[in-house]
Amino acid sequence: NETVLDVKDLKTYFFLDDDKVARAVDDVDLTVKAGETVALVGESGSGKSITSLSIMQLINKPGKIVDGEVSLLGRNLLTLSDKEMTKIRGNDVAMIFQEPMTALNPVYTIGNQITEVLRKHKKMSKKQARQRAIDLLKLVGFPRADQTIDEYPHQLSGGMRQRAMIAIAISCDPKLLIADEPTTALDVTIQAQILDLMNEMKAKLNMGLLLITHDLGVVAEYADRVLVMYGGQIVEESPKKVLFKDPKHPYTEGLLESLPSIYKEEDRLGTIRGTVPPAHSFPEGCRFSSRCPHAMDQCFKSNPEIIHLDHDHAVRCYLYSKDD
Ligand code: SF4
Ligand code: MG
Repeated sequence: NETVLDVKDLKTYFFLDDDKVARAVDDVDLTVKAGETVALVGESGSGKSITSLSIMQLINKPGKIVDGEVSLLGRNLLTLSDKEMTKIRGNDVAMIFQEPMTALNPVYTIGNQITEVLRKHKKMSKKQARQRAIDLLKLVGFPRADQTIDEYPHQLSGGMRQRAMIAIAISCDPKLLIADEPTTALDVTIQAQILDLMNEMKAKLNMGLLLITHDLGVVAEYADRVLVMYGGQIVEESPKKVLFKDPKHPYTEGLLESLPSIYKEEDRLGTIRGTVPPAHSFPEGCRFSSRCPHAMDQCFKSNPEIIHLDHDHAVRCYLYSKDD
């Protein structure tokens, strides 16, 4: 399948008062292919959201993308003007956020918000756009779409608002959909419905889906490939099945230990002690060293490079070498 997103050496830093620099995203590589779901997982503060906002070019001061490439369908977004980027956002790449109430405009009807996107990107007439909006609302599961179109966000439940957001996101047939904790604010049964819907739309439209989550249960259910993020860096990357069966990085192992046992073979309940260090004061060596149960001398001196154990399995940890 075609590669839709190819991120290389991405660095997004925040230049704080008192001359501190927060290296929120520090040398991230990631790819997403058409029809593929790639999960970016990690605790909050690991840099997942900043990665997605960097891809969308939505980083504001004091943040800055200081290095790297973000290629969407072969075009490096980092070289585009604001105007060109505005054309791409919502058209070739769309994003769904955790809380649709903040992404939807409360003073416009659902219909207005969909037709605005269609009129802007697809140059449709009002009438065409309204019909397409009704079709989209039907597609995402509104049985009475011709009524919903004239309703306001506050008239919908949280799950229905997220469905409306999905309708807006897919309205222009994007090649890439980025979903940042899309269901965290919803209750569990609604979560599954929304994720199923995203999955179905992904397949139907052959989009690439970058799913950002802290929830390994969601990863287990929906991802094809997984990137584990810690301290602004990818610490492990592999196909989902491999990751759950044979995790390599101590951080990944820790994350998996805190999952209920249906997702793993042994029945252990563990949690990783401590918290993600702030991005302006990472430890000198491995960024996980302050929490790692296997840390050795070397781990406190320098940060390991990511190495490939296999063509599709990579890890950033001194416990492994290329011959493993
Ligand atoms: Fe732990 Fe060392 Fe591996 Fe870092 S490099 S994860 S501290 S063993
Ligand atoms: Mg986040």
